[in-house]
Amino acid sequence: SELTAGMDHVEVRIGAEIAHGEHVGVKKSGCHGFCEMGPLVRIEPYNYLYLKVKLEDCEEIFEKTVLQGEPVTRLMYKQDNEVYQTQEEIPFYAKQTRLVLKNCGHIDAEHIEDALAVGAYEAFEKAVFEMTPEAVIKTITQSNLRGRGGAGFQTGRKWSQVAGQKEKIRYVVCNGDEGDPGAFMDRSIMEGDPHRMIEGMMIAAYAVQAQEGYIYVRAEYPLAVSRLRIAIRQAEELGILGDNILGTGFSFHLHINRGAGAFVCGEGSALTASIEGKRGMPRVKPPRTVEKGLFGKPTVLNNVETYANVPMIVKHGADWYTGIGTPESPGTKAFALTGNVNNTGLIEVPMGITLREIIFDIGGGIRDGKKFKAVQIGGPSGGCLTESQLDSKMDFDSLTKIGAMIGSGGLVVMDENTCMVEVARFFMNFTQRESCGKCVPCREGTKRMLEILERIVAGEGREGDIEELEELADMIENTALCGLGKSAPKPVISTIQAFREEYEEHIRDKK
Ligand code: SF4
Repeated sequence: SELTAGMDHVEVRIGAEIAHGEHVGVKKSGCHGFCEMGPLVRIEPYNYLYLKVKLEDCEEIFEKTVLQGEPVTRLMYKQDNEVYQTQEEIPFYAKQTRLVLKNCGHIDAEHIEDALAVGAYEAFEKAVFEMTPEAVIKTITQSNLRGRGGAGFQTGRKWSQVAGQKEKIRYVVCNGDEGDPGAFMDRSIMEGDPHRMIEGMMIAAYAVQAQEGYIYVRAEYPLAVSRLRIAIRQAEELGILGDNILGTGFSFHLHINRGAGAFVCGEGSALTASIEGKRGMPRVKPPRTVEKGLFGKPTVLNNVETYANVPMIVKHGADWYTGIGTPESPGTKAFALTGNVNNTGLIEVPMGITLREIIFDIGGGIRDGKKFKAVQIGGPSGGCLTESQLDSKMDFDSLTKIGAMIGSGGLVVMDENTCMVEVARFFMNFTQRESCGKCVPCREGTKRMLEILERIVAGEGREGDIEELEELADMIENTALCGLGKSAPKPVISTIQAFREEYEEHIRDKK
């Protein structure tokens, strides 16, 4: 949002105003999460948060707030005739627990001094100076940190499997490929607080004794790529990254690989193939990535948000971490809240929060006073949840029990006017186009499903179409090679289950 909402111009203008003053400065930070309201300007030490700031507001901000400490109320968040002065009071933020995103919107990601001032690399120092690699893995295992990329696999278990391999050349890889439409959690971390993620990778590398790491990041995220490059360079210059880090004898080199935007490259084996310079296609497993991953060597592969959780666990301990969220899914989860909800943006909440709290307290309810209909969770690999599931807990196991999944964390809220068949068509169109074509069930099956959905939406549906969709979905789920194919029918099946009458209506009322 900082680039698209005109933030650059606002920053320059405020900077020009401030050039006349003393003891004040402008800091360009990463995303605050409240994207709907950008450009955002936060004034320290008052914590005032100004929304939708325009060039013409800058002079007043400088005259009133910077020079006199007075708030400019017209730029502050208002709800039910109440004005919310500070960021922390605004309902969008009040129910959040921002741990991973804590520094996003507060530090200048292009200056390592900013990150160091808020404790960056302290956890790594604790790990290398006070803990053995085994103790680090034990801490991560006891914290029960689960992979934030979708599957929820236990991170400590993955690390210990890599550490236990006979092969001594190991790799640490970060999946920053974030391909779900509407999801931008990882992007925000890479742009707003890259050192947190790099530190997480360094701790993983120390734990499994890897010397090389790769960050696989979408080429469509140029700001993330540039900030990661700056962060790596600055860490190397300070001797935090590279050979013989901080004189410990431990060396770790980090490389960036830009992905060309194929959704399937978020899948582990496709991602490692892509880094190796091969076509990004999944392969049959076993062997698993922990045994034979990148360049055929044992590999720790986690996503951006997972690594970003690691430093605070090492710093504060596993017991501290398990005190947040639920026992089976400790910690927080970042979600991209989008769709027909009043407050859209990037949020971070404790695991176990209900969907109702997210949509109505943080999201401020449905736009234009309309009724809630459903929420698509987990992007094209996920399913939809309806009104009866609003009190469902948002954690890995509770969602699996009701046939949904957190996925990477996309939440698309839909109001009463949304056509659910069109929603299913949209997601099937996406996965069909992203299918790598390696296996027949996915390559052909998703095409057939899309054809049927397109004709239903076009008012040309036929008797038996719903049953054929169900049959095809069953076949694809059970026979596709990778997760992309296996989960492709999910949005269709979950909308048929919850809104079958809408499909029937489309077919009945055909042209
Ligand atoms: Fe490729 Fe789809 Fe098969 Fe995965 S399931 S390997 S994306 S064709």
